[in-house]
Amino acid sequence: MIPDILQGVLNGIGSVQTMLFTDVVQPALYHFGFMDYDEDAYDAIYWVLVGALQILFMYALLRPLEAWRPAEPWSDRKATRVDILYTWITKLGLFNLVFFVLLQPAFDRLQSSMVLHGIPTIELDAMWPGLTDRPLVSFFLYLIVLDFAGYWYHRWQHRFGVWWELHAVHHSQRQMSLWTDDRNHALDTLIQSAFFAALALLIGVEPSQYVWLVAFSNLLQSVQHINAHLPFRFGLRRLLVSPAFHRRHHAIGYGHEGTHYGCNFGVLFPWWDMLFKTASWNEAPESTGIRDQLQAPAGTQRCYGEGWWSQQYLAFMRIAQRMGHLGRGNVVKN
Ligand SMILES: [Zn+2]
Ligand SMILES: [Zn+2]
Repeated sequence: MIPDILQGVLNGIGSVQTMLFTDVVQPALYHFGFMDYDEDAYDAIYWVLVGALQILFMYALLRPLEAWRPAEPWSDRKATRVDILYTWITKLGLFNLVFFVLLQPAFDRLQSSMVLHGIPTIELDAMWPGLTDRPLVSFFLYLIVLDFAGYWYHRWQHRFGVWWELHAVHHSQRQMSLWTDDRNHALDTLIQSAFFAALALLIGVEPSQYVWLVAFSNLLQSVQHINAHLPFRFGLRRLLVSPAFHRRHHAIGYGHEGTHYGCNFGVLFPWWDMLFKTASWNEAPESTGIRDQLQAPAGTQRCYGEGWWSQQYLAFMRIAQRMGHLGRGNVVKN
């Protein structure tokens, strides 16, 4: 039953992809003289369609949940608006487009030179023969491997000052909602896409499966940022990162403190936090955001930008400031 439905969805997306490509994208590419990109464009359409499906799911299911059982009451949702823009930009693939145009050719070259020079990859299929014959098993195994890398990636985002300034764009949202997961600095999104695509290539993930690994992971991460009470009972919260667990990570002074301290870095599974002793199960509601956004004396009422452009720009300004300090021989502590 479920495999049939999944197969139906996959076939449907494939048909729309072909239709869009032959009727719209290919003629446009030929018209503007970008014929060399037609293979990449065909793949890119698939990403856009999967992203559109995710947005549909978010509006149809997650948004009503926020309206029904909000975890944190807000007088208005104005602050969430910019995050909706992030979601549309990220999920509909403006970054994927940049990725396909700028990075895909580099990845193709990397892949062929790896084959040409006999550079060994750590393909999981070689360690566990027949793994890729069982799509669901390999899907979850790849998900776990990528999630382990995701845990460390997130820890580094907090650990290194320059990287933290990019990640601060995500943490500066004080009204967390289902859209907040996509609120990330463009450069951070690009670095992340390249990092995980390289890793996937190294462990032998098929591109067709990679799209769904990313989509599945992103959707669960959107759920974690939801402003709604979700019942994570019967040990489920130890199996999957719950909204309460991730909200703790966003809590000022409890979940993170710039580059000083942090807990609950897990992306999908809290196991890595349990293993590396960074888990906090306390679900007491706390204010979310970054300490220096608070009014004096707790903070300096620092502004991280209201709109997309200012958030992007101010991150670069903070980085320049940090590097300026470092250049003068000072050690920046937060
Ligand atoms: Zn974080
Ligand atoms: Zn988050």
